[in-house]
Amino acid sequence: MAAKEETVEGKYVYDFAEGNKDLKDLLGGKGANLAEMTNLGLPVPPGFTITTEACKAYLMTGREPDGLAGQIEAHLESLEREMGRRLGDPDDPLLVSVRSGAKFSMPGMMETVLNVGLNDRSVIGLSTQAGGNDRFAWDSYRRLIQMFGKTVCEVPGEEFEHALDEAKHAKGTQNDLDLDADDLRALVDAYKKIFAKHTGREFPQEPREQLDLAIRAVFDSWNAERAILYRRQERIPADLGTAVNVVTMVFGNLGPDSGTGVAFTRDPGSGAQGIYGDYLANAQGEDVVAGIRNTVPLQELEQLDKTSYDQLLGIMARLEEHYKDLCDIEFTIERGKLWMLQTRVGKRTAAAAFVIAGQLVDEGLIDLDEALHRVNGAQLAQLMFPRFQLDHDFQPVARGIGASPGAASGKVVFTSARAVELAAEGESVILVRRETNPDDLNGMIAAKGILTSRGGKTSHAAVVARGMGKTCVSGADELEVNVPAKKFTVGGHTVGEGDVVSIDGTTGRVYLGEVPVTPSEVVQYFEGELDPETTDDPLVRAVHRIMTHADAARRLRVRTNADTGADAARARRFGAEGIGLCRTEHMFLGDRRELVERLILAGGGRERDEALAALLPLQRADFVEIFREMDGLPVTVRLIDPPLHEFLPPLEQLAVNVAVAQERGEDVAKEEALLSAVRRMHEENPMLGLRGVRLGLVIPGLFAMQVRAIAEAAVAVARDGGAACPEIMVPLVGAVQELETVRAEAEKIIAEVVGDSGVDVLIGTMIEVPRAALTAGQIAEAAEFFSFGTNDLTQMGWGFSRDDVEGAFFWRYLELGIFGISPFESIDADGVGRLVRIAAEEGRAARPGLKLGVCGEHGGDPDSVHFFHEVGLDYVSCSPFRVPVARLEAGRAAISTTGSDSR
Ligand code: ADP
Ligand code: MG
Ligand code: MG
Repeated sequence: MAAKEETVEGKYVYDFAEGNKDLKDLLGGKGANLAEMTNLGLPVPPGFTITTEACKAYLMTGREPDGLAGQIEAHLESLEREMGRRLGDPDDPLLVSVRSGAKFSMPGMMETVLNVGLNDRSVIGLSTQAGGNDRFAWDSYRRLIQMFGKTVCEVPGEEFEHALDEAKHAKGTQNDLDLDADDLRALVDAYKKIFAKHTGREFPQEPREQLDLAIRAVFDSWNAERAILYRRQERIPADLGTAVNVVTMVFGNLGPDSGTGVAFTRDPGSGAQGIYGDYLANAQGEDVVAGIRNTVPLQELEQLDKTSYDQLLGIMARLEEHYKDLCDIEFTIERGKLWMLQTRVGKRTAAAAFVIAGQLVDEGLIDLDEALHRVNGAQLAQLMFPRFQLDHDFQPVARGIGASPGAASGKVVFTSARAVELAAEGESVILVRRETNPDDLNGMIAAKGILTSRGGKTSHAAVVARGMGKTCVSGADELEVNVPAKKFTVGGHTVGEGDVVSIDGTTGRVYLGEVPVTPSEVVQYFEGELDPETTDDPLVRAVHRIMTHADAARRLRVRTNADTGADAARARRFGAEGIGLCRTEHMFLGDRRELVERLILAGGGRERDEALAALLPLQRADFVEIFREMDGLPVTVRLIDPPLHEFLPPLEQLAVNVAVAQERGEDVAKEEALLSAVRRMHEENPMLGLRGVRLGLVIPGLFAMQVRAIAEAAVAVARDGGAACPEIMVPLVGAVQELETVRAEAEKIIAEVVGDSGVDVLIGTMIEVPRAALTAGQIAEAAEFFSFGTNDLTQMGWGFSRDDVEGAFFWRYLELGIFGISPFESIDADGVGRLVRIAAEEGRAARPGLKLGVCGEHGGDPDSVHFFHEVGLDYVSCSPFRVPVARLEAGRAAISTTGSDSR
């Protein structure tokens, strides 16, 4: 035991009996749960945990903190007493494993070293103690040298694997178990040579030196490059440190009555109850995970060792009841005796998360608040994508990273140009590249899906695809992509241009041929096509139950962004409680372009008035349709926002048309007028140019026409016995004077149109220019509501335009960890979010009861929804498909005191 006089502050080592599951910060996840199991009385091999504090102190100073060595010594001695063996004793050695374990599990961290304490002498003692089992002893020793060499001393792992393969080859076998004691002894010699060659020293024979080096290597691995990068991206603090677990070895490789396995307490794929696991007889743990030999389903353990099997099932039930959740476990059986080596609350698919949460409520283990807490919007969003129907014979040929979800099939192309060509012919194409770069943008837009053989979740392909909502699998490194030859090879298949592949952007799987797609049953449920009360689909029942609870719990209202009656109708089925953003731009497109061109070309006066007068009834009809669909729910209509030249043909095209027509001697007066208008209206930075409220102030009658159309539509609906609640929203306001000017004119028109119809029209503004956020107190004097346009606020807050930056350098910023996630995907709470907070506070101070909402994609992003809840907005608005996600997250935000925990 640690010396009693030590303060807890200087206490760096905890016996398993001293910890518990809530000490993850100090003991790491693995150590805290080993302690918890020990205290539950489960069979855990004795051991101790060196704390994250010790690691932090070591990393700060470059040497082990004072007192650590002594405490390890004391705990080791007590372990030796308990086990009746000494570490590395030549006659009867105690062996231990050294296992890393941070609070969050992290790729790039050091793995485990088993069998620490073996050397040239104790290997003999181990054999004697195992009843003369030489094979077992030498097998354990070669594993130690291999793992120690690879993870502690950075000896290339392939060299050991190569030597092992050679030994098997010489023996004419594929199976490790056919190597006998002599073969393994020879292999140990070969391994030692490899070790010496790469490290310049002999394999350390001193057990305590092995232990200390392994511990130090775990500490050091906290700062391995991959670990640092991962933390930056996931926003895991860099100063948590990792714990180290020292665990008495138990042996699954002692013979056929021994073995090792992993198990889940429910199916982590579907959530179904039952026994899910794999078992491997006569093996050490790493073999199961490494997939070196074929495991058997855990159920078969019942035949092999019924006592251990029954005991294991009992423990699994106990763990579930204790953790009140799906657990995954690692165990080993040593000559008929069961040992628990790890447990944790297990990872699961999105579907399983909902199903299990629902089951646990039924079983009385958790309440509905807790069930809601355990699922999240990202999972729900995943469940709403169509899926591949895999009940056929489709086997993936490769697996990459699920970089942007969805299911896409199409013809393979290797260049952006070819993607554009084929897509123009109406083909679905999958753009395949080693990695993409900004030159591929057009091809990415044209493609149905993107597949790359390199790059991770933050590669160019992944970032851009997510921004576009396009299916993407990145880093499928089994693919050999040869762009000049227009082909790729994978697992013996060659795939050329025009061949069909299917990619699953959720799982990262790649299939040859076209895999049929099936619609999501969750969407069918939201559409009202599946009755949650009568369906036998457990997922739909669980989703329904949890959504109902989220709706009851949430404070935020959820609206949708919809420009048409059809979108509005779907969003209502999905639970939208109003429209937060109805854009009016599309009302200027299609067959109305002609009128818009007249409007733009009009010198002024009568011509312009005529064009506006012609547009008025068309707009009014659009609004009538939407108000009817929303039936009394609020509808925020944004006055026209984009620069007008977006409604005219592109400059180059016009110039060519004019030149060609002139050549032919045709009358080009109109085209020339258009061309000169386009030239006149050309802007260097259209995003910062003549748009939004500025248009309304410069083009007389434009906003007036829109305001009149809105008011007349509302009155028409009301006269028909319906209800309409229009909210007129002025875009891009930066100063209260802009809004006041628009407002004065609008109020006159509204008063005139509305008369005594009882219709109430609100006038408010978007807050999307940083200056508006900073002068929100003034602006609130003239606004009945604010709606945060967080896309523009992000662009102007950061000073970059989304279209330019996402393809150009975001991947690099993500790679460097400057962003954990694109600020267009999830609101930048510290910067842009601060503007929102200031505007909300100062706006409400100036006008109590000011209605606050957000429109723009952040309204459907889980983390952002939590932020908007916390800032005190009244509603979020998002695209129809995101409405259920926002409802769920708004519910989660309301029940959570700690904010989002989607990590
Ligand atoms: P990971 O975090 O990669 O799962 P672990 O530390 O859990 O690494 O170790 C991997 C495997 O090594 C375990 O599942 C277990 O089978 C085996 N192992 C670890 N410690 C011991 C031990 N003391 N005795 C026997 N096997 C062990
Ligand atoms: Mg493990
Ligand atoms: Mg905007």
